[in-house]
Amino acid sequence: MTEWAFDTKAVHSGINPSQHRGATVIPIYETASFAYDSAQELADVFAGQKFGYLYTRIANPTVTAFEQKINSLESGVGAIAVSSGMAAIATMLLALTRQGDEIVSSTSLFGGTMHLFNRVLQKYGVRTRYVDPHEHRELRAAINDRTRLIFVETIGNPRLDIPDITSIARLAEEHAIPLVVDGTLTTPYLFHARNFGVALIVHSTTKFISGNGGSIGGVIVDLGNFDWQSCKDIAIRETAEKVGNDLAFLAYARTHILQTTGCCLSPFSAYLQCQALETLSVRMDRHCSNALALAEFLSNHPVAEKTNYPGLADNPFHEIAGSQFNEQFGSMLTFRLGSKERCFQFIDSLELVKNLANLGDAKTLAIHPASTIFRECTDEEMKRAGVSPDLVRVSVGIETIGDIIHDFNQALQGVDR
Ligand code: PLP
Repeated sequence: MTEWAFDTKAVHSGINPSQHRGATVIPIYETASFAYDSAQELADVFAGQKFGYLYTRIANPTVTAFEQKINSLESGVGAIAVSSGMAAIATMLLALTRQGDEIVSSTSLFGGTMHLFNRVLQKYGVRTRYVDPHEHRELRAAINDRTRLIFVETIGNPRLDIPDITSIARLAEEHAIPLVVDGTLTTPYLFHARNFGVALIVHSTTKFISGNGGSIGGVIVDLGNFDWQSCKDIAIRETAEKVGNDLAFLAYARTHILQTTGCCLSPFSAYLQCQALETLSVRMDRHCSNALALAEFLSNHPVAEKTNYPGLADNPFHEIAGSQFNEQFGSMLTFRLGSKERCFQFIDSLELVKNLANLGDAKTLAIHPASTIFRECTDEEMKRAGVSPDLVRVSVGIETIGDIIHDFNQALQGVDR
């Protein structure tokens, strides 16, 4: 059989109706544990000699369906769903690093990830070296014997810079370390990470994958591009010897990290996100076309300054974004209003657009990052992430574009000239 295209996989993968009494929508297995008829059967499942579910913290059929659906969209070797995007990043880090190790990371990062690197990992003796992802010489110079992974976002949030993933993947491969990419802003629909040499892709599924701000979740997908048998961490190498290359990372992360930290995805959220994945491409197309139209409107508006959207032809990342993201440019844009006060005036005048800390929602969202998501960051951290006190970040939704533009236009009139 030929491999299904993206949209067909989005609708059909992840569920086999014959395993669920004919149900074509994955049922919600809302149970903590799974009973067996005999002590021997349960012992066999515990010993891994027989397949079966034991306890929802480790695995659950509804969560498996979500993992299989997203893995099929990424054309990966397998996925682990977890309770949030931060849990996905933390699980990956706990699996790949130990005291004395280092990470090489892009400077332009989501604030939560930066906190995890700087305030949590550092406490346990894992150091992060930050490098401008566009300076390949610096990236190369930051890698040493202790480096265990390179970490970048497909679109820096909120700087909206776009690293050249193919060349970073080549650099990682030369040093036999995995390239881990946060693909939250692009989803598997815009960025097919496996084709770019990425080892692991992580997503906050809270965003576009959930689609309506209705649930929190995260996922790690192993794309089959990395040889775990030559991983620098001994525990993963030993796992690779036992279970083979394809399962090594996933088996280690599930049994040693997910199972012990308990950051599992709830079956109900997995159910919601399975439904939402079916319409991912249709929504992403609308998000992207609306964002381009709004960016064009703002870049011609006398009050909004420095509109930043990779889809604009004069944006420095326009070309690389087009080639990596299938000629689409995402739903996030930023612009500046000259001062924090003017940003607040603008946000307070919005009527349709919601002011809240999320992105990738069907609803258009606006936020002032400096006083919210990046509030606890140092000036240096804010600068690295591209956050200035007069910056407004917008996640463009899927409403009728005329209504979105109308709301921006009327709110900009409320800003002091
Ligand atoms: N990665 C990126 C790029 C994000 O924007 C976010 C949240 O905004 C996260 C990770 C964390 O995801 P979650 O809120 O699901 O933990």
